[in-house]
Amino acid sequence: MKKIFVTREIPENAISMLRNKGYEVDIYPKDEIISKKKLIRELRKKDYDAVLCLLTDTIDGDVFDAAPKAKIFANYADGYNNIDINEAKRRNIAVTNTPGVSSLAVAEHAVALMLSLATRLVEGDRFMRDGKYKGWSPMNFIGTDLGGKTVGLIGVGHIGSKAAYIMKNGFGSKIIYYDVNSNEEVEMKCGAIRKQSVEDVLREADFVSIHVPLLDSTRHLINEARLSIMKPTAFLINTSRGAVVDEIALVKALKDGKIRGAGLDVFEFEPEITKGLLKLQNVVLTPHIASARESVRNEMARLAAQNIIEFFETGTPKNKVN
Ligand code: NAD
Repeated sequence: MKKIFVTREIPENAISMLRNKGYEVDIYPKDEIISKKKLIRELRKKDYDAVLCLLTDTIDGDVFDAAPKAKIFANYADGYNNIDINEAKRRNIAVTNTPGVSSLAVAEHAVALMLSLATRLVEGDRFMRDGKYKGWSPMNFIGTDLGGKTVGLIGVGHIGSKAAYIMKNGFGSKIIYYDVNSNEEVEMKCGAIRKQSVEDVLREADFVSIHVPLLDSTRHLINEARLSIMKPTAFLINTSRGAVVDEIALVKALKDGKIRGAGLDVFEFEPEITKGLLKLQNVVLTPHIASARESVRNEMARLAAQNIIEFFETGTPKNKVN
């Protein structure tokens, strides 16, 4: 009987799919991010054949050593920067992800962050709850127009292209983007203009939204130098991975008024938050919830389980990334 270790509780549909196949499924019982040390300890308890892991788990050579029979690590996430892919490849371990299923939700969340910043919605909410409202005032919480503004997308894959459609069709935004690959569909449907460099996007955009994976080439893609060329009236939105942005440089840019504000769903040192960020009023922060919709979570669970089943049954899971 195949044995599978799941690193945290996920939607039940995945567990039923695996158990219906006759597999033995163990789920880490605590509702916490499993540390690498604890994960290794758990994996050593049995001869696991597969691991269903999360983006919060560090999966590297030490973890692979602890589960020598496990030849598939199915990540319950779109990104897989938590897994040492080169090491997995070297050991002939398949790594899979759950691509595409959260794209619309994440794009909507990016737009929600843009709207929150433009309308100063969260600041207004805090003001109300603090009991400070003394009636309508002509000068209270002056926001920014969203309609007709230029949206600059860094990365236009599944998520970036959906954000482009929403902004173009909903707000009449001019869409500009930088991506290592051109996206003709977005250019055709949204009139999106591909720029030659990240800098070209940053100089022109009123809202910059990041949608690249975290890779060596994208770590600190947004750094101090690049923040300094953004418009002082511009907003930065990050729903990709925290380390794509140099967060210390971002806090400085926000404090110094180099940019107007930021909306962040992901954080460089998650779950730690960079010093100074929480004190800033011109940021909207959400706890990595861009894909947190019931439909999305169920589909991610189904795909992760499906990848494990396909691996055992055919050797070639659909969402293999290595
Ligand atoms: P995708 O692979 O469909 O698109 C990524 C795009 O980035 C591609 O078009 C690619 O060509 C481009 N790209 C890669 N390297 C680049 C570089 N150096 N410069 C410019 N462009 C580059 O991925 P996606 O589904 O759109 O997801 C993007 C990322 O969003 C994921 O990798 C994941 O990290 C993150 N994500 C976050 C959440 C969340 O909950 N906040 C949920 C899902 C995904």
